Amino acid sequence: MTAPADDEGQHAVDACGLCGTETGGRYLCERDAAKLAERLAELPVLYAEVGECLVPRRSGWGDIIATRGAAGPRAPLNEDLLDTVTWHRAAEVMHLWRVDVQRVRWPHHGAPPPAQLDADCRWLAMELDWIVDHYPAAGDLAREARELEAAARAVVGDPVPKRSVIGQCIAVIDDHGTVCGAEITYRTGESRLACRSCRSVYQGEHDLLLLLHYQPAGAA
Ligand SMILES: [Zn+2]
Ligand SMILES: [Zn+2]
Repeated sequence: MTAPADDEGQHAVDACGLCGTETGGRYLCERDAAKLAERLAELPVLYAEVGECLVPRRSGWGDIIATRGAAGPRAPLNEDLLDTVTWHRAAEVMHLWRVDVQRVRWPHHGAPPPAQLDADCRWLAMELDWIVDHYPAAGDLAREARELEAAARAVVGDPVPKRSVIGQCIAVIDDHGTVCGAEITYRTGESRLACRSCRSVYQGEHDLLLLLHYQPAGAA
């Protein structure tokens, strides 16, 4: 790295801020710029998954799923990760990057309004070409995005788990006490379970306990 960031006007840049590869005047090499673009698209999805993994501590309903063993090959919850890897931290970090990019690019604009992680990531992705060409801290931004991705993947697993079967729908669907019995599936990112056959919804701990309690004997 050469010129200090607060140099007026032209910066003599010749190396990627992340890997040090020769870039011919850009702050990120092509490969790392493409990786950053990918991460900006993935982070909101990953952190939505992280949010689901953190649910057990708050409401207990994820615990029930985990105990049931139906949530797939999910890593046991790690309290340290819970404290450091939160959706809010990711949102905060990426928002600060947005604030800084905007400050450098449009010094006369005010700070951007508070936003969700997905909006901030989208905004940064749209400004990526400018960031790569003109933003001296691009390497640090790319590094933090990479760290946030790694932290999220440590929680949710890599690849992200697919939809898993929780059990059978226990809703009574006619006057004769016929039970629906359709498969109820769950995928992280969902805050409720819904039967695709009879459209019954199971939401919250109480519903889920009932659902699990009334599973037919011998059901997985
Ligand atoms: Zn690079
Ligand atoms: Zn049903």
